[in-house]
Amino acid sequence: MSNPSLLILPGDGIGPEVMAEVRKIIDWFGARRGVTFDVSEDLVGGCAYDAHGTPLADATMAKAQEVDAVLLGAVGGPKYDNLDFSLKPERGLLRLRKEMDLYANLRPAQCFDALADFSSLKKDVVAGLDIMIVRELTSGVYFGEPRGIFEEGNERVGINTQRYTESEIDRVARSAFELAMRRNKKLCSMEKANVMESGVLWREVVTEVGKDYPEVELSHMYADAGAMQLTRWPKQFDVIVTDNLFGDLLSDLAAMLTGSLGMLPSASLGAPMENGRPKALYEPVHGSAPDIAGQGKANPIACILSFAMALRYSFDMGDDATRVEQAVEKVLADGLRTADLLGEEGRAPVSTSEMGDAIVAAL
Ligand code: ATP
Ligand code: MG
Repeated sequence: MSNPSLLILPGDGIGPEVMAEVRKIIDWFGARRGVTFDVSEDLVGGCAYDAHGTPLADATMAKAQEVDAVLLGAVGGPKYDNLDFSLKPERGLLRLRKEMDLYANLRPAQCFDALADFSSLKKDVVAGLDIMIVRELTSGVYFGEPRGIFEEGNERVGINTQRYTESEIDRVARSAFELAMRRNKKLCSMEKANVMESGVLWREVVTEVGKDYPEVELSHMYADAGAMQLTRWPKQFDVIVTDNLFGDLLSDLAAMLTGSLGMLPSASLGAPMENGRPKALYEPVHGSAPDIAGQGKANPIACILSFAMALRYSFDMGDDATRVEQAVEKVLADGLRTADLLGEEGRAPVSTSEMGDAIVAAL
């Protein structure tokens, strides 16, 4: 058996800084667990533009298609603001998502006990929270035709089209059911079937796919009610599956139940490959944070937890993923905080590398 393969794309801004901490964890797995990853590293975003005149070189794209998983830091920065649209750093990331056809975006909202005070909600509402939102990522109102601003009579009209085919709903629903099977066998599908035809079809197809997963308890909720329930008592949910637009809103909402942007990982999954595991790209939710780049202030936890997701979903190393998550939990319980986790408190923060070292030590 060949080693699990991983393509690392640190990117711009704080991307390389937080990725350096993931490297320490990868090294720990090699030294202490005898798990060697075939790691290759390449450029994406502004740094790729600087080197090759494009935010994602063809060779990098080809490599991404071959590996078991891609781990990305962040792209972009003020230096690139005036570039032509097609050359912008973000286009590199969009190309990866599009050509790998990553249609299921997984965003966990997980609240570590030590940070429960950090939420804007009451502590008992969020303490121990561990839910996952699956957002459809490649279709819906973001892409549907017709779209544009058109002349109509003597005024203009802005049009977007919410459009979903059965197969698009089917495949993302399957990703969500598979996930529910690995978790607590509970799935809530959210749409607005009361006012949208795409929602009617969504509910129908999800229900149909559910017949292949009789062990999973499936429920349906209108997305507006879902938003309300997510802030009222989020622990009633385990896995939520929803479309591109509602998923955008609901995953940001759920994310902020838990505190800092520096804590949030994500995974984007596509169709199963030959080995049965999905094509996958893992990345922290945060961006390149140019305001703190190069200062050793960035919180590496979002990127480290993204690597933990890779262990779980791409490498069948669920126990090791849990081990990494528990190490994060431990250092937080010990009181270690990067600056973003301190709010108005007067305590001294730890640096990016101190946080990474502590997590390795906890492992
Ligand atoms: P993008 O457009 O790339 O999503 P953004 O403008 O949404 O970027 P981010 O780069 O995600 O912004 O960062 C927003 C702010 O949050 C940053 O300015 C930074 O202060 C803070 N931040 C983001 N990520 C981290 C992190 N890992 N550690 C500490 N602070 C962070
Ligand atoms: Mg942003």
